[in-house]
Amino acid sequence: MPWTLRSEFTFDSAHVITGYDGPCGRLHGHTYRVRMELSAEKLRPSAHVGRHIMVADFKTLKWAKKDIDQGGLDHAYLNDLPELGGDTTG
Ligand SMILES: [Zn+2]
Repeated sequence: MPWTLRSEFTFDSAHVITGYDGPCGRLHGHTYRVRMELSAEKLRPSAHVGRHIMVADFKTLKWAKKDIDQGGLDHAYLNDLPELGGDTTG
């Protein structure tokens, strides 16, 4: 029987769509909602527990919810993150 894990979280970030003729061309923020559904045929350990009891570890899955200073995206200025394409939409 496969195991299923469903979760969601939000984080807040700011950005500018460079050259956009309208309000999105100015600095503004969004609350981003991340919804995930993961399935696994067997449970596994994580970096925080050695027993085989998880589809995945919430602490790992919700990395984006961390503050920008801790490697997440919360309260980040997305244009400063070239790995996201810099000039993001949304
Ligand atoms: Zn926007």
